[in-house]
Amino acid sequence: MADLDAVVIGAGFAGIYAVHALRSSGLRVRAFEAGGGIGGTWFWNRYPGARCDVESKDYSFSFSPELEQEWSWSERYPAQPEILRYLGHVADRFGLWPDIQLNTRVTRAAWREDAAEWAVTTDDGAVVSARFLISAVGCLSAYQVPSLPGLDQFAGPWYHTARWPAEGVDFTAKRVGLIGTGSTGIQIAPEIAAVAEQLTVFQRTPNFAVPNRNRPWEPEDERAFKSRYRQYRKEARESFLGVPITGTGRPVLDEPPEEVQRTFAERWRAGGGMPFLGAYTDLLTDQAANDVIAEFMRDRIKEIVHDPATAELLCPRTFPVGSKRLCQSDDYYAMYNRPNVRLVDLRSTPLHSVSAGGLSTATAFYELDALVFATGFDAISGALAQIDVRGASGVALAGRWAAGPRAYLGLATPGFPNMFIVTGPGSPSVLSNMALSIEQHVEWIAGCIGYLDAHGYATAEATAAAEDAWMAHVTEVAYSTLFPKADSWYIGANIPGKPRVFTTYVGGVGPYGEKCDQVAAAGYEGFALDGPLAAK
Ligand SMILES: Cc1cc2nc3c(=O)[nH]c(=O)nc-3n(C[C@H](O)[C@H](O)[C@H](O)COP(=O)(O)OP(=O)(O)OC[C@H]3O[C@@H](n4cnc5c(N)ncnc54)[C@H](O)[C@@H]3O)c2cc1C
Repeated sequence: MADLDAVVIGAGFAGIYAVHALRSSGLRVRAFEAGGGIGGTWFWNRYPGARCDVESKDYSFSFSPELEQEWSWSERYPAQPEILRYLGHVADRFGLWPDIQLNTRVTRAAWREDAAEWAVTTDDGAVVSARFLISAVGCLSAYQVPSLPGLDQFAGPWYHTARWPAEGVDFTAKRVGLIGTGSTGIQIAPEIAAVAEQLTVFQRTPNFAVPNRNRPWEPEDERAFKSRYRQYRKEARESFLGVPITGTGRPVLDEPPEEVQRTFAERWRAGGGMPFLGAYTDLLTDQAANDVIAEFMRDRIKEIVHDPATAELLCPRTFPVGSKRLCQSDDYYAMYNRPNVRLVDLRSTPLHSVSAGGLSTATAFYELDALVFATGFDAISGALAQIDVRGASGVALAGRWAAGPRAYLGLATPGFPNMFIVTGPGSPSVLSNMALSIEQHVEWIAGCIGYLDAHGYATAEATAAAEDAWMAHVTEVAYSTLFPKADSWYIGANIPGKPRVFTTYVGGVGPYGEKCDQVAAAGYEGFALDGPLAAK
């Protein structure tokens, strides 16, 4: 008999809930977490300004109405420390700690055909066997430092935002260089600018950012909202992004221009990215429609940033709004009005090298005391690719995914029986409210395992035909939108040599959930089920 029913890799939102859900089904579970604490994203990304850009009422677990009622968020958009406290509270409240082993990295997982179990090896040399392997390694957890010639010569400290020191970093009186202007770069930049002697932002591609309009969650608002939380959660599950959004329901191109300006201005004042992109039906599918919202946003940037040359450099012109993650910040653009902030355009003068005293571009040298990389992640498949996963006949997952990661419903892949992936390639994952998608995935996985046990099956394996059909659908839906037009991390463009494949399902969280339910109701259609009683 296997040592465990399930091994879970990772203890972020996904791993924590997988431990709880599987244990509640009576399974023997252990999660291995490489970090020294739980929380995943919110354990590692402790940089100043780290904040969720989905509202706290949405970015939280819904599985326990009691938890939902007793926890109070302090702000509309929760900051990293508060989310980490929340996840700690969840682990305390549901007694999850005994089944989570910290400071332990899974290095290998191999399917033993004869025993129908996984042998999981950890970096302390231990091997544990389990009937099921659940990957909860995170879509944005394998961080990426660009290979910059001379970085090892740099005399000052350098940091990656995804491995920020827990004790913090004091930039007072320092000249700091920041590389990376995506969601994280945009969050950290104003925080550094507020204390550093000088901040130099090295920008390759400007990004669109909408205001958060972050504010405290007033007790009366909270009470009123919580009285209908159950109904709200249901609406969220049926929604497109995992957050109920009210749009106009009309295409922007059919709307009178003054009405369009009024609608966008209202949403800009209210803050938040999802309501902004969800305002009209055609913004993410029609370039001409997207041009309207892009122009509105560029006008706002030029209004905020005083120096016209800097404002122009900050105006994105090479990709549709929303095709790269839409950033959110209340103070990023205004930061460029500070005398201690300068912007260097790497398109016109590319990065050349680092030396002891600073950073050189093709045309200039910038003296720096510290360097910050906000250069993101090998998204979706990166963390799983770092594990030597071997399926049936010893086939390596890395090899199977050499042309790009793929999975049936984002949950399972042929040749890897009894292995489930939370928010894998082919799921709505990073283009949804991930807390909700994670819950939906974990519940589906727990349901599938329950079905196998109830019906006497030992194994479930996605069929190649089901995976092919699903990924063809994922691709077809993606290419009916503007998403593939951008050189984004969604498509792997930030990782040198990574195949350019768009693997996130943009057909909507609601329709995706329905499809998963149909598959389950049909006895796990698209999976080959096998075991002692399979013949019956
Ligand atoms: C800065 C930042 C901001 C974000 N903001 C939002 C947001 O606003 N809204 C949203 O929906 N999502 C956001 N995300 C995405 C976020 O990653 C998810 O919302 C969610 O936290 C993912 O949870 P997870 O458990 O799937 O993965 P993670 O939180 O990444 O946890 C995975 C864990 O697995 C561990 N692990 C990986 N490999 C191994 C191994 N081999 N052995 C053992 N342990 C391993 C890692 O150490 C990590 O702790 C953000 C991500 C980042 C980085």
